[in-house]
Amino acid sequence: MLCKALTTTGEPCQAQAMQGDENCYLHNPAVSEDEKRDARSRGGKENQIVVKTPLPPIKLTSPKDVISLLEETINAVRSGEMDVKIANCLGFLTDKLLKAYEISELSDKVEVMGLFLEKRKGR
Ligand SMILES: [Zn+2]
Repeated sequence: MLCKALTTTGEPCQAQAMQGDENCYLHNPAVSEDEKRDARSRGGKENQIVVKTPLPPIKLTSPKDVISLLEETINAVRSGEMDVKIANCLGFLTDKLLKAYEISELSDKVEVMGLFLEKRKGR
């Protein structure tokens, strides 16, 4: 059974009524405003991603570092120590990092090439 109350926009509430009641939890006059507020803030907290064991910062200066980070992340997800959303985020960021390495390596090569050509011109 659906809740008999109307929402603030005047539409019928689409929530399920509480058992043995005509109203849903939020429209139930028997539930105090304080209780509802508590329930809402609890709900918000439950949706938050919690880092169970905050890890220290690490240096990521080479693709090798990224590989070990990915290895750790994969294992943490497999063992249930890390939230999948955090792992997804790390995956996204490491992908960006690897691309940045690639670009900086390329620009180093171009720079070296430029110096080489300049030297040849100078002769
Ligand atoms: Zn309702």
